Amino acid sequence: MQGSYDYRAVVLSFLIAWFAAFVAIQLVGRVRGATTRQATTWIWAGGIAFGLGIWSMHFMGMLAFRLPVPMLYDVHMTALSVLPAVLSSVLALYVAGRLRRSFAQLLLSAMFMGLGICAMHYLGMNAITFTPSETYSPFWVVASVVVAIAVSLVALHLLTRFSWVESEPRFGVQIAASALMALGVCGMHYTGMAALQVGPDTFCLTRAGAVPGEQLSLVIVSIALLYLAAITIGSQRDLHASEQRFRALVDGAPNAMVIFGPDERISLANVEAERMLGYGRGGLVGKSVDELLPERVVPRDPEARERFLMVPRQIQLGGGRDLHCRRRDGVEIPIAVGLSPLTVLGRRVVIASIMDLTERKEAQARIERLAYFDALTGLPNRSSFENRLAEMLGESGGDGFGLIFADLDGFKEINDSLGHSAGDRVLTQIAHRLREGVGERGEVFRFGGDEFIILLPDGSPTRDAGIAEELIRRIAVPIWMESKQLGVTLSLGSVRHPEHGREMDGLVKRADIALYQAKSAGKNVHLCFRADMEESVTRRFTLLNDLRSAQELGQLALLYQPIIELRTRRIIGAEALVYWNHPQHGRITPATFIPVAEEHGLIESLGEWVLEEAVRQSAGWRARGLPPLRLAVNVSCAQFRDANRLRNAVDRVLRRHGYPADGLELEITERQIMRDPESSIATMKALSELGVAMSLDDFGTGYSSLGHLRDFPLRKLKIDQSFTEQIDRDAPGRAIVRAVVELGRNLGMQVVAEGVEREAQMGPLLASECAQAQGFLFGAPMPAAEFERRLLRPMTV
Ligand code: C2E
Ligand code: MG
Ligand code: MG
Repeated sequence: MQGSYDYRAVVLSFLIAWFAAFVAIQLVGRVRGATTRQATTWIWAGGIAFGLGIWSMHFMGMLAFRLPVPMLYDVHMTALSVLPAVLSSVLALYVAGRLRRSFAQLLLSAMFMGLGICAMHYLGMNAITFTPSETYSPFWVVASVVVAIAVSLVALHLLTRFSWVESEPRFGVQIAASALMALGVCGMHYTGMAALQVGPDTFCLTRAGAVPGEQLSLVIVSIALLYLAAITIGSQRDLHASEQRFRALVDGAPNAMVIFGPDERISLANVEAERMLGYGRGGLVGKSVDELLPERVVPRDPEARERFLMVPRQIQLGGGRDLHCRRRDGVEIPIAVGLSPLTVLGRRVVIASIMDLTERKEAQARIERLAYFDALTGLPNRSSFENRLAEMLGESGGDGFGLIFADLDGFKEINDSLGHSAGDRVLTQIAHRLREGVGERGEVFRFGGDEFIILLPDGSPTRDAGIAEELIRRIAVPIWMESKQLGVTLSLGSVRHPEHGREMDGLVKRADIALYQAKSAGKNVHLCFRADMEESVTRRFTLLNDLRSAQELGQLALLYQPIIELRTRRIIGAEALVYWNHPQHGRITPATFIPVAEEHGLIESLGEWVLEEAVRQSAGWRARGLPPLRLAVNVSCAQFRDANRLRNAVDRVLRRHGYPADGLELEITERQIMRDPESSIATMKALSELGVAMSLDDFGTGYSSLGHLRDFPLRKLKIDQSFTEQIDRDAPGRAIVRAVVELGRNLGMQVVAEGVEREAQMGPLLASECAQAQGFLFGAPMPAAEFERRLLRPMTV
């Protein structure tokens, strides 16, 4: 007896299998995204659903199978047959829910599952008691087992792989996959049915508990469908709830977060991310990662791209590395990103937690500016200079480079007299001028205080000198400050790499030496380093050391140079000049060591010693009845600045030796007095009160204005040697001397011509009515004993 099929029921059985497979696929996703405990719940719930699905499909299939006699099912056996279906489905979901599984595991699971389905099928068949007993074709039984295992393998493969590799489980793919699985399950069933062999007059015995197949199948199918529907709704609701919770969690996070999957599209972004990137609510969802990341950031190669974006474990990007992200308005902002891979609700995603580094970078830049730039002038500072120089030294070859050390002349006086804020303004102006002057040809650094360094890449000594000259010119342009004109000058010393050194220290030191020489040479000048400069500086240095003890060791001595009345050539005075009898270097002139003493604070005590010694000497001469002289003693501006100390020293010395104040004259050079005219006037007044006369030394070299000259309580002007030198040879020299004499007369001051060496100078000097003179013609500076002998001779020279 052969059965026939009711094809509508066949289709229905297929639909039931399809639905069950679809639900199973949905649930695998839930298993993946769940915690262990939740996963167990979902594996069982899903296993029962799929098992029930297969089971009910089986009975639907049975319903489709029509025998001429009604089929009766044993209820217990029927109920028992659900077990293998459910257990094998649980196994399937368990295997599929695990992310990493090997093919061997998959095959083994497929065999279990296949056997489970077969067990279900044949137990279900056994629930029908055919009389006489049915037989099974061995071929079709084996075929049905093979089909069951094959179906299970495909199903497991689809469950573990197909839908879940994609970030978005695509509905179409799910439908197709579940249809394939359903076809397999049906295939197994109908292969199994083909194995059934029943005789033509077979009938079903009514046993206790046996129910008609139609009724039972309908009940089973209904239960299965209800369960499937319930679990689908339950899972969807749970899905929704967990999604809500997840969204709330992400949204509440204080830092910007976006979530994207392997398709590189953003599926979720929190409020902070939208704010940071300039999007409205929900505006980021669906955007490609490419819209946020500049092209240079993400690799082009698809594999590298996948590795970069779909990180396998948590990593941090940015921070140290320059990572940027693009805002909606196109502006790129520096960011740091933490990427964490995660399976959320069954999807492989990456959570990007983004930190905006704009403020941090700005703060960093500010700190860097402070570290490498001078706050006052805005020029790069000493550290920058050192870095840059190290860099230039590292670049071998090329034409070498120039380094200029520049220092303002007399800046300390500006600071002292006008205050620090004026000093700051002057420095700012100077910095500006230097930068403009150097332009593209090099870089200007503030080395500290009023010192600047200029680095000139490539070039030549001639070009360096040209630039230095230009800077001198630019700086010399008067600076206007509170409607006052300030004359500032610049001294520069330069070196070239590699001629003058290959190391940083050597180069800077030699540029400094050249600068020092420029200062000594009268300032406002540029000098390029020469080897002999180093010697002179070293000498100067040892000189300083020796000078500290020179006074105590009695190495200082005074020489006296006669000052004469021109008309009569009578000695009317003497200038005391200090000399240093150095044990090794012999006699050292004051022009060499006085500036060193001034610079290193030795001049006050030295000056007081000179004053004491000179007055003692002159008082001695007077006491021995020698003609009274007016004695001239040089004082330095350092002594002049401390009016009280100088006044007291003078007063003390005069009293101690009972020397008349009007027999003493203090000489101060014009250049020194002009550094601070106001306080000089005060000191001069204090000294004049004692009755001591003041004379202005080296007149004509210090640019004093006539206005000032009138205010100084001076008795004498000493015309500098540079004017008297050529007086017999050139007319302008004569005119100047005459003008000075005239000026002196008008201001009530005596005029002395310095440095008279030749008889020939006498005529023009007398013609200009200059009253006094001093010079080698009348006598070079000489020791006291010799001067005394000169005094004792007839009073002329
Ligand atoms: P000064 O006060 O102008 O002194 C005159 C300088 O001219 C002296 O140089 C003297 O030797 C030099 N001299 C005199 N007649 C002639 C001449 O006919 N031809 C030439 N070529 N030179 C002549 P010296 O002794 O080397 O002194 C240089 C400067 O040192 C002085 O210039 C003075 O400013 C300073 N000085 C000397 N002694 C002292 C001192 O005790 N204290 C201070 N503060 N400065 C001093
Ligand atoms: Mg003098
Ligand atoms: Mg002089």
